Amino acid sequence: MSEEIPRLIVDGKRLDGRDFDELRPIKIEAGVLRRADGSCYIEMGKNKIVAAVYGPREVHPRHLQDPSRAIIRYRYNMAPFSVEERKKPGPDRRSIEISKVSREALEPVILKELFPRSGIDIFVEVLQADAGTRTACLNAASVALIDAGVAMRGMITAVAVAKVEGEIVLDPMKEEDNYGEADVPFAFLIRNGKIESIALLQMDGKMSAEEMKKALELAKKGAMQIYNIQREAIMRKYSREEEEVE
Ligand code: ADP
Repeated sequence: MSEEIPRLIVDGKRLDGRDFDELRPIKIEAGVLRRADGSCYIEMGKNKIVAAVYGPREVHPRHLQDPSRAIIRYRYNMAPFSVEERKKPGPDRRSIEISKVSREALEPVILKELFPRSGIDIFVEVLQADAGTRTACLNAASVALIDAGVAMRGMITAVAVAKVEGEIVLDPMKEEDNYGEADVPFAFLIRNGKIESIALLQMDGKMSAEEMKKALELAKKGAMQIYNIQREAIMRKYSREEEEVE
């Protein structure tokens, strides 16, 4: 029996009432964990994610140390209760892939040469998933790294774009991700308030070159909005610390 595909766009609006170029509601809070050197909680739509950063600190096992720079480790993990059907705990192909591409997106942004022989560990825990978790995790990880005081070249800001019923839409939620024609997660390096380069680009499905151009423009627009929310979260954390000192 074939599964009935729901209509994803009705009267120019998406299932949750959003316009094509609209992000889901976002909430970001920096410094939520006491025992991590840096941390961040993010909600992007129904996604709920915590990121924790430890380091720069001594690397164990020691044979992994690099005398010229820090090594970066990134672990993406989904809680068993984060998806509809219980997810089997532990790493799987998908989480290993996401961990790898996310680490590769962050690595060039971290000033690793400043921390020889040390390690920076980034853990992201998906508590509730609703599509776009890899991008939401990168947004949280970036804020957590800054919260940990890790020197960075800029901010990493990420968002996905999808093709749904022939339309290019920003920040797809689960139904759009499941039944859409394409899903394209982007991450950007933002420096001095400007998008400098693409740090991650993946593609699941098909888009024409013209559609891809449109997707990039939408992603950039969404990323600048997210970037401002990331910055605000960091500023709030610093002003909270300032108040505590006074
Ligand atoms: P992303 O979360 O970055 O969009 P995917 O496109 O691989 O990554 O996954 C889309 C969504 O599918 C996830 O956000 C989650 O809601 C759901 N999902 C992923 N893995 C599982 C799983 N093992 N069981 C149920 N749902 C899952």
